[in-house]
Amino acid sequence: MQLTKLTIDAARSAVQQRKTTALALTEASYARIQKEDEQIGAFLTLCKERAMEQADRIDRMAAEGKPLPPLAGVPVAIKDVMSTRGVRTTAGSKILGNYIPPYDCTAVARMQAAGAVVLGKTNCDEFAMGSSNENSAFRPVHNPRDLSRVPGGSSGGSAAAVAADMAVVALGSDTGGSIRQPASFCGVVGLMPTYGRVSRYGLIAFASSLDHIGPLARTVKDAAIVLRTIAGRDPMDSTSADLPVPDYVAGLERPVRGLKLGVAKEYFGEGLDDEVRHAVESAIDKLKGLGCEIVPVSLPHTPYAIPTYYLIATAEASSNLARYDGVRYSYRAPGVKSLSEMYRRSRDEGFGAEAKRRIMLGTYALSAGYYDAYYLKAQKVRTLLTRDFEEAFRKVDAIVTPTSPTAAFRLGEKSNDPLAMYLADIYTVTADLAGIPGISIPCGETRQGLPIGLQILGKHFDEATVLRLAHAYEQAA
Ligand code: GLN
Repeated sequence: MQLTKLTIDAARSAVQQRKTTALALTEASYARIQKEDEQIGAFLTLCKERAMEQADRIDRMAAEGKPLPPLAGVPVAIKDVMSTRGVRTTAGSKILGNYIPPYDCTAVARMQAAGAVVLGKTNCDEFAMGSSNENSAFRPVHNPRDLSRVPGGSSGGSAAAVAADMAVVALGSDTGGSIRQPASFCGVVGLMPTYGRVSRYGLIAFASSLDHIGPLARTVKDAAIVLRTIAGRDPMDSTSADLPVPDYVAGLERPVRGLKLGVAKEYFGEGLDDEVRHAVESAIDKLKGLGCEIVPVSLPHTPYAIPTYYLIATAEASSNLARYDGVRYSYRAPGVKSLSEMYRRSRDEGFGAEAKRRIMLGTYALSAGYYDAYYLKAQKVRTLLTRDFEEAFRKVDAIVTPTSPTAAFRLGEKSNDPLAMYLADIYTVTADLAGIPGISIPCGETRQGLPIGLQILGKHFDEATVLRLAHAYEQAA
């Protein structure tokens, strides 16, 4: 048994049947991290002592013959934008470089209650702002499939940890694509649930109306198990939906025959790499072969999605990041002489270039005289983008697209050109703006062996259909 390659169910039942122990699984993950992570850089903080305690608790339950919870003994990694009690949580920023939260994020707490063993916190772009992980204040992450390339972002550490078998699954966050795009670059599964499906309590806010927590995994079933674990109403987050959580795992095997799949021409236009296009088109053919009906749909406002996203996201970010003032949990510049100098220098020294760029863009878009022209206008276009999806979903059960216009690019390739970096988010930001769920699953490789991702988007709160289609494709492929 290769301990670092197990699925959730295989790991849990091996522990339950005493074929291995949670401690052995945890040790195997740390050994893998020890061996691989100097090159890859997926983790910012490890919490081995705490992990060993969690594993030991599971092993004692198993020894007593008690039935184990669904994630018992499963080593998991948590993106460093989720608060973990007593474990440093940086959001990839120097300004939170020494922040130790006094409480757990709800999604993390639910993972642990289900028996998961938290290995540590994964690297990410500062405050989840980025698509390449190069905006981390600590170090970039390297793509495990090709170390000269980015893993995607902003959940690049989480995607790399899963792709390199350092963790079985990981939690990430998606505001404009940050779960799905790194999943596609690293060749793993990444699921963004519907807005409101998973509590955001304890998630360090980037853009509150767009932020989602979701799983990165090696199989669709593992992603479904994690979603089932973390989903559902949380009294600590008023935007979490009070809706029943279906058994996503039980629904996976239902046939996909007869499901209608929308294909929008706006997602196959200029800028889409040929190899990605071919891989996605053959994935669509495969789904057709499984009995799905392919239906052309139109999402006409797609060309406005990038400006809309980068106005709303920066506006919300400028407001959310105002709390890092050097007074409370954040970095404080030494040797200051006045309060205003303390604010100014703490923020100047604590934030990196991309966070500053976004604070300035967002503050500008919200300022008197520009608010109507930029922020309000963007909100109106957001409604139009949402209506595009509502219209399309009257005709189809899901929509299939590429996750990203290209496979993983090289480190440094786009880091001096923020606009080029923003434009590459074209296929992912629309789902965040509309609040609908989406998954990225591997659908082949480029000639150079780089993974390509297929994106499946679904109706509000219909993760079940998204997962079912993804599972059917995965099994067939
Ligand atoms: N790449 C996008 C951005 O830079 C999305 C980030 C995210 O989803 N957190 O804003």
